[in-house]
Amino acid sequence: MTQTLTSILKRNLCAGCGLCESLGASEGIRMDYDAKGFLRPQFSGPISKALDEQIGRVCPGANLDMQVPAAEQTILWGPIRTAWTGCSTREDLRHRASSGGALSGMLMHLLTSGKADCVVQITASTTHPTRNQMVISRNSREVHEAAGSRYAPSAPLADIVRILEGGERVAFVGKPCDVAGLTNLLRDKPALARNLVAKISFMCGGIPSQTGTAEILKRLGMADKEIASFRFRGDGWPGGVKAVATTGEVGTMSYPDSWGGILSGRVQFRCKICPDGTGGFADLVFADAWHGDDRGYPSFVEADGRSMILARTALGEALLADGIAAGDIVADPLDPSEIAGMQPSQANRKRLVTSRLAAMTLFGRARPRYKGLRLGEASSQAPFKLRLHNFLGLVRRLWRGTEG
Ligand SMILES: Cc1cc2nc3c(=O)[nH]c(=O)nc-3n(C[C@H](O)[C@H](O)[C@H](O)COP(=O)(O)OP(=O)(O)OC[C@H]3O[C@@H](n4cnc5c(N)ncnc54)[C@H](O)[C@@H]3O)c2cc1C
Ligand code: SF4
Ligand code: SF4
Repeated sequence: MTQTLTSILKRNLCAGCGLCESLGASEGIRMDYDAKGFLRPQFSGPISKALDEQIGRVCPGANLDMQVPAAEQTILWGPIRTAWTGCSTREDLRHRASSGGALSGMLMHLLTSGKADCVVQITASTTHPTRNQMVISRNSREVHEAAGSRYAPSAPLADIVRILEGGERVAFVGKPCDVAGLTNLLRDKPALARNLVAKISFMCGGIPSQTGTAEILKRLGMADKEIASFRFRGDGWPGGVKAVATTGEVGTMSYPDSWGGILSGRVQFRCKICPDGTGGFADLVFADAWHGDDRGYPSFVEADGRSMILARTALGEALLADGIAAGDIVADPLDPSEIAGMQPSQANRKRLVTSRLAAMTLFGRARPRYKGLRLGEASSQAPFKLRLHNFLGLVRRLWRGTEG
């Protein structure tokens, strides 16, 4: 019996979080790259009905249920208790990280203050440096090593059940869909929440296929080189790609050229209909607090790193306050009305998801179950012409079979 899991994969709703491997490893499910370069659950035999039904309940690709009352959510950004811009107080971390290193600064605080024993997060693969792997970090050095965004498939939930059953106090970092998957899991198995210290996420524009990284190397003339290390961002804000071959040869590419020119065009289908790229299910969410350019668009001119920080729950608010009081993070209050100027793509996607879902309905494609995310109100903020454009755009891609 693999009816539900097969249907999620056939409908192209998988986000690649790895949760089904964690639940079903004993029945032969494991994450691996598919032909398009995305991490997907692979299995050869049938799986039990109980497991298939459980995956149907917890898979974040197919189910998002925001249970925070609408009155306690902003339309575009979900639940916000407090909003900030800030950075890590460690200058080396601020420089190495994606934005201001506030996320990693928070992780270091959780470990050094004794609130958490370990952090489950993503870092570069030790065997294939262009790929990602889940790592359990236990000290500031390991968190420092993992800092920086990696625009390639990641499955941080692939072993989460075993880790949460292990007795250590765990802080989890993942994409918004990973955190939503963890939230679904904890609703299904509440006892696992006992050892979870916090759910931490970042705003996410989408996971590109591993072919995006290959294309970057090709354009750098390094496609046939053995790669010793590969970073997508960091070492400055926004920083850029840095590929180092085992021969010592170094290739670099700016953030606008790598993300804007290559990676953003290769994101998986589920990301194009993602209603929660802003991490509404997390306790704390971090993002780029971009400064505006002359036209009001985010400026990618190199600057000192600055993270946006949203505390979404009482727990997140308290942990952040502790991190600031301990001197691990510095932060200034941010008026939530300024978020849209820093994150225009996230605002637009939330406004346009409903139009894209309508295109799926037209094609008889079963849609994910999205509940409590204020999508109707977000949609009404978008001009009719833009909604129509997005509806027709997805209709065209679904018709041609090029939706991603
Ligand atoms: C695929 C992707 C898309 C993103 N899209 C946006 C966006 O649209 N808008 C925006 O403001 N920010 C986006 N970011 C996040 C942004 O780049 C910064 O991570 C965020 O601003 C926090 O910066 P920081 O310096 O505080 O984080 P850091 O201190 O650099 O910490 C980054 C954390 O992210 C984790 N991480 C890195 N790559 C992955 C991955 N692939 N999967 C799971 N965890 C990972 C690391 O383990 C680390 O804990 C994206 C990141 C990724 C990986
Ligand atoms: S989104 Fe996660 S739980 Fe759902 S099928 Fe994909 S890997 Fe499995
Ligand atoms: S855009 Fe949404 S579905 Fe895609 S990786 Fe990010 S959080 Fe997951």
